[in-house]
Amino acid sequence: MNILVFAEVIENEVQEITYELVGKANQLADKVVTLAVGEADVNSINSDVIQVEGESSPLNYVVVKKVFEELKPSAVFFGNTLAGIDVAAQFAADMALPIATMVTDVSVDGDGFVATSVAYGGKVMVDLALKSPAVFVVNRGSFPAEDGKGSAKSVKKLDIEIEDGIEFAGYIKPEVEDIDISKADIVVSVGRGIGDEANIELAEELAEVLGGVVSGSRPVVDSGWLPKTRQVGRSGKTVAGKLYLALGISGATEHIEGVKAKNVIAVNIDRNAPIFRVSRCGAVADVLELVPLLIERIKEVKGE
Ligand SMILES: Cc1cc2nc3c(=O)[nH]c(=O)nc-3n(C[C@H](O)[C@H](O)[C@H](O)COP(=O)(O)OP(=O)(O)OC[C@H]3O[C@@H](n4cnc5c(N)ncnc54)[C@H](O)[C@@H]3O)c2cc1C
Repeated sequence: MNILVFAEVIENEVQEITYELVGKANQLADKVVTLAVGEADVNSINSDVIQVEGESSPLNYVVVKKVFEELKPSAVFFGNTLAGIDVAAQFAADMALPIATMVTDVSVDGDGFVATSVAYGGKVMVDLALKSPAVFVVNRGSFPAEDGKGSAKSVKKLDIEIEDGIEFAGYIKPEVEDIDISKADIVVSVGRGIGDEANIELAEELAEVLGGVVSGSRPVVDSGWLPKTRQVGRSGKTVAGKLYLALGISGATEHIEGVKAKNVIAVNIDRNAPIFRVSRCGAVADVLELVPLLIERIKEVKGE
């Protein structure tokens, strides 16, 4: 079996999602080829690589089509990112291939595949059976990136002309980020239950003693208590580290969609808050009372 991975290259840099996809593809297939469009250094991608001159653009579906026709892979993996979705949808439609989106896992099933996918805004997970060849648009944080990192087995440079009426105007950078919460191992996250902007300081102190970073739910960001770059959830970022400490967060579906951390611990005054359903453990308590005690205790344990 061979799998083609479409690399996410932004401003000449291979993005982390690419390594996640390559890692999973390596588990499933004997041969993995990563297609990178752009000038990026592709030597750390743990697969064969085809590099094509160009830049991030929806028109890259033309490049994917040409490489697909040549390699005839069993599957094509894209990241569920703005760039990935643009290319994957047009490519699958043009080639009349089955496509699974919002994918969190893929396995081989006989001659085809089974994809686990998020449906109804995260309320249910569905298993989809797809005939080969198929297209998979995979959510960030679904697979470890380390498995896709190493050294490229080969790098082949190709020139593929894109003739289309659309012109790529340019890439608009998102807000400058102070901290990238999606890369943090420990995330202390605050919700509306924190009560007031002044109390964010408590979360910051807790994050500091734990060696983590602070994020928040949408209402906290909408209130201007934290910058947009710290928002977790459907319209924010996905966190996928070791620990997610949810302080005064109810656990709405749109929030939980962005929580892929291995361990979720919640603190909430409402014992029926939905966040407890996705938590490994939790405390029914007032965050404003519990967090100062927690900080004190952690400092004691650390001998500070
Ligand atoms: C299209 C769409 C996209 C969205 N995208 C996002 C997104 O990306 N991220 C996101 O977060 N939301 C998103 N939302 C909003 C989401 O639906 C919820 O409204 C939001 O997540 C609720 O935030 P919250 O848990 O902080 O607030 P609330 O739902 O108000 O919950 C506050 C919680 O704090 C608890 N509490 C109160 N006081 C205390 C205290 N002293 N100590 C302990 N606990 C206390 C309460 O019991 C409650 O459970 C989106 C909604 C839509 C429609």
